[in-house]
Amino acid sequence: KLHWSEFGEQLCRGSGISELMDDLGHAIAKGGDSICMLGGGQPAHIPEMDALWRKRFEEMGREPGKLEHAVGNYEPPSGNPAFRKALADLFKRQFGWDVGPENIGVTAGGQTAFFMLFNSLAGKFRDGSRKKVLLPLVPEYIGYANQSVDGEMFCAVKPRLEMTGEHEFKYRVDFDALEITDDIAAICVSRPTNPTGNVLTDAEIERLAELAATHDIPLIIDNAYGAPFPNAIFTEATPVWNKNIILTLSLSKIGLPGTRTGIVVASPDVIRSLSSMMSIVGLANTNIGQAIATPLVESGEILRLSNEVVQPFYRTKSEQAQAFVREYFDDRLPYRIHRSEGAFFLWMWFEGLPISSQELYQRLKARDVLVVPGNYFFFGLDDHDWRHRNECIRVTFTMPEPTVKKGFQIIAEEVAKAYAEK
Ligand code: PLP
Repeated sequence: KLHWSEFGEQLCRGSGISELMDDLGHAIAKGGDSICMLGGGQPAHIPEMDALWRKRFEEMGREPGKLEHAVGNYEPPSGNPAFRKALADLFKRQFGWDVGPENIGVTAGGQTAFFMLFNSLAGKFRDGSRKKVLLPLVPEYIGYANQSVDGEMFCAVKPRLEMTGEHEFKYRVDFDALEITDDIAAICVSRPTNPTGNVLTDAEIERLAELAATHDIPLIIDNAYGAPFPNAIFTEATPVWNKNIILTLSLSKIGLPGTRTGIVVASPDVIRSLSSMMSIVGLANTNIGQAIATPLVESGEILRLSNEVVQPFYRTKSEQAQAFVREYFDDRLPYRIHRSEGAFFLWMWFEGLPISSQELYQRLKARDVLVVPGNYFFFGLDDHDWRHRNECIRVTFTMPEPTVKKGFQIIAEEVAKAYAEK
């Protein structure tokens, strides 16, 4: 029998995200059309992007020493120097940010960046005090929820709900409810948001950045779906960075999740701390994603692909998904979707649903449709009586159209059935 430390208790016993990754892995392994896997954050296999990765491998294979360098070396724990420089140049060129390679750090996926950032900034301090990460708006990314190595790490604030259409709504940061006390170590948001597809407005981000600066704490912006790549944003939003902001990006959502390449844009001391952690935990990063992407970043081709291939692809998928919702859901039911402004998901809210989202998840799973029950995304929030947190589900729309269509048809049937149970 294993006896776990506090760290072990936190990380060894599974979690919402472990279950989700398990469901996802098994559904993909099983393959075929029988399961509608609408539960993960798996990017689509966009043929043009898949062809590009193949071409890059072939180019690397032909160029003497290139592949050998990428697979045969430990590189610096902060990342490949040419990759870091190419990224800094791109951000400077594209957005006018005052950044150099010293502001760029590479991690083994964005997920690992968050593990290292959260645990180094929040948790237990030497003087015995504890600090937390403030989520100014939940629902927020499930992948943060279980990352603490020693106890509760998040405190979250309920959003304002703005009804933006008969069957649509949008979450807004409730600044009146936002309090930055001394035990807040950092503020964190994903933009576009997983799970909702929300894109915090420029005004909201500006206000959060001001609050963070005033209290001398970092604002962490998770840009896994954002600009300039993969740019899965369907609305106007200005990317921001300053010395007080820790911005994370990833090569995953543009189509390279298997390479595990995360990117952090931050002040040099944050980058050095990540490099230190990376070397202690894993010696070095994975190189192959950096090697594939470097010339695309240098030439700016990654921008063209993001804007002309990836973004229109997901925008169309989102519109299709919304059309299926309109087609299959009974207009008289009080269903709503969060305004789809980015990322890979439709977030559905069933006000007054007689069953919980967890129960709905089980019923859908029994019919081979996998979604994620919304309750997982409200971590850090004290108000357990708030019905809303058990009335939502997240539905991924990246899968092939027939799968998404069949999925929404079955979801609509089960939701109608559940409402009829009242
Ligand atoms: N942040 C958000 C909001 C995500 O949705 C994901 C993946 O789904 C990640 C970060 C981590 O992605 P990766 O570790 O593949 O870079």
